[in-house]
Amino acid sequence: MVSDKLNIVEVFSSIQGEGEFVGYRQVFVRLAGCNLECDFCDTPSSRTNMIEGKIELTAGKRDFKKVENPISIIDLSNYINNLLMVPHHSVSFTGGEPLCQAEGLAKLLPHIKGCIYLETNGTLPEELELVLPLIHIVSMDIKLPSIIHQEVWRQHRQFLSIANACDTFVKIVVTNKTNGIEFQKAVELVAAIDKKIPLIIQPVTPIYDCEGVTPDMMLLWQEQALMLLTDVRVIPQTHKFMGQL
Ligand code: SF4
Repeated sequence: MVSDKLNIVEVFSSIQGEGEFVGYRQVFVRLAGCNLECDFCDTPSSRTNMIEGKIELTAGKRDFKKVENPISIIDLSNYINNLLMVPHHSVSFTGGEPLCQAEGLAKLLPHIKGCIYLETNGTLPEELELVLPLIHIVSMDIKLPSIIHQEVWRQHRQFLSIANACDTFVKIVVTNKTNGIEFQKAVELVAAIDKKIPLIIQPVTPIYDCEGVTPDMMLLWQEQALMLLTDVRVIPQTHKFMGQL
């Protein structure tokens, strides 16, 4: 990958549908590529590089233009800053896993005229160090073994220790297959770094090949987390039922 270019999937203006900043208007920059294979991935087409990406030209108008990948840092920053002519809370770099292209990201971010919000699976700590001075908010997932079929506790611990230097919250997607032991391990991992880090429990959206989490289970997960953390919220993916991208 040439580091002064980036492989993108799409760029558009929308409403943040998940996590602590739900409801805020953001420019979303969806980068291609991912280092994990999660069950219930809601952006499977972002996991590999594509020949073309698409960019919204007018914020919220869905007037997408196709662009060739990889796109130059300068062209991409111009498209993003153009969307920022309409007031937005921040620019969300998402994926895929945006840190798979950390070198290019580190070159792009100084050109962006807005608050930088990173949505990440929290497994690439060395790549995070490369961009952290340029990031304002980190939305970090903790991936439970029942969803990714491997254990990444060490990477998550290292990642969160580094990310905690800026405004960071943690999100955990729970399903009806989540078990209490892995959930407890995730909560203990966060608490060992800082009990005040906000934790968002996100019940899986039951539009995939899975059942939703029962209301009783949501209460149980929240109670379990509140035994160790001070700020624990349950927030589903709201953009799905708002009909937003
Ligand atoms: S980390 Fe995100 S993009 Fe990658 S497989 Fe998991 S859900 Fe999909």
